Amino acid sequence: MTERITGGCKCGLVRYAGTRLDVPMFRCHCRDCQHLTGSGHSEMMPLVRDSFEISSACKTYEMLGGSGNPTFSGFCPNCGAQLTRRSSLMDDRIYVHASSLDDPRKYNPEKSIYQESAQSWDATSVVGQT
Ligand SMILES: [Zn+2]
Ligand SMILES: [Zn+2]
Repeated sequence: MTERITGGCKCGLVRYAGTRLDVPMFRCHCRDCQHLTGSGHSEMMPLVRDSFEISSACKTYEMLGGSGNPTFSGFCPNCGAQLTRRSSLMDDRIYVHASSLDDPRKYNPEKSIYQESAQSWDATSVVGQT
């Protein structure tokens, strides 16, 4: 529950650290994640927002989320790596992209969300579908 999670971008300019939040890790297949990651989905690990620290160099892109709420995407302005995602609907948490973890083996997706937006060439990556 109090596991310390660290990570950062490809070039090393942006580093972050935080505590794991005990809610499911998930894979998101929404169009925003497809556009931002350049792939079929994103891999999100939830951290406790109050515990979260990140280099001030991190840039934030604001957009409207699936329910019309402001959503914030954090990225490195130098190498462009996607690092964080945060929704104004859930103030207690911030998500980090599993690909940015120092130890990506700590990530284990428990479910997919927005699987209805999954591309046919990515459909085999949907997890936990009911
Ligand atoms: Zn970078
Ligand atoms: Zn998404």
